[in-house]
Amino acid sequence: MELEPYSTARDEFQGGDISIWLDANESPYPNGVNRYPDPHQKKLKERVAALTGVAAESVFIGGAGSDEAIDIIFRIFCTPGKDNAVAIAPSYGVYKVAAAVNDVSMREVLLNEDFSLPVERLLSAADSHTKVIWICSPNNPTGNAFPKEEIIEIARKFNGIVVVDEAYADFSGKETLLGEIGKVKNLIVLRTFSKAWGMAGLRAGMAFADPEIIEYFGRVKYPYNMSSMVQEELMRHIEKGTGGHIPEIISERDKMAAELANASCVEKVYPSDANFLLVKVSDADALYDYLIINGVIVRNRSRMPLCADTLRITVGTPDENLRTVSLIKNFYE
Ligand SMILES: *Cc1c(COP(=O)(O)O)cnc(C)c1O
Repeated sequence: MELEPYSTARDEFQGGDISIWLDANESPYPNGVNRYPDPHQKKLKERVAALTGVAAESVFIGGAGSDEAIDIIFRIFCTPGKDNAVAIAPSYGVYKVAAAVNDVSMREVLLNEDFSLPVERLLSAADSHTKVIWICSPNNPTGNAFPKEEIIEIARKFNGIVVVDEAYADFSGKETLLGEIGKVKNLIVLRTFSKAWGMAGLRAGMAFADPEIIEYFGRVKYPYNMSSMVQEELMRHIEKGTGGHIPEIISERDKMAAELANASCVEKVYPSDANFLLVKVSDADALYDYLIINGVIVRNRSRMPLCADTLRITVGTPDENLRTVSLIKNFYE
């Protein structure tokens, strides 16, 4: 496969003391956005590298949140109509959608009953046309993180790419896979600015991998895949530290879990390494409707495998959590 990246005007220019920019057919009249953005988001990548301890050559930053990275992975590694991918289930819905869009068949492997990782079954679901195994940890919607050693074992035994979506890792006390970048060559770790970083509105995601893989991302992505305004806004929020609130959300999550466990309609609150709780209740559809009538929207996950009668509840502000818990406690009373 030949993948020649589009060479932007900004790529061909290498340094020098330029004061007149006549290379990219932009408008010369300044209005804040008349120039093309940096196609490689150099400043942002260096900042992310410094914050994560991963080398800048191992960082990809994409627009459209994590979705761009997910789609690019299928486009780099899978031949449409021929290759397949393996993913855990239940999990984040975008892997399956992106697989279908790329005409890649998706083999879903059910988690164990206790939501632990079915290491052997994942490996045996793969055949010679399996190019990617998708693992989400902490997993959405089950909320649990998988042991790092089990994921590394899969990467060692699988002759393809292992993607670990760590969108929620900042809310977990467990060890993440980020430290394995550079050591485990076939590993891609996904992160997002949307959750712990508090910037869902900006639509920006990250992928971390061996520089050779990141180089392929650069060949497949749209040349200017992130606007200058988004790059600047991300930098501004990172410098101001406006995301954060992580300790607060973790403490609210744990408080909420304990409170909900006492509600009569709640059968089980699953342990969470994320900023949401998966809760098993007596009648999820009825509770879901009742919460809506009372102005609270949660996610009904009852139709997902292993998740009958469950709701997924995002941790909100202390006031929002108090109100939600009190509504749930009063259900059926
Ligand atoms: C929320 C979420 C993301 C992030 O999506 P963005 O498109 O980056 O906002 C990625 N993976 C999982 C599992 C998620 O739940």
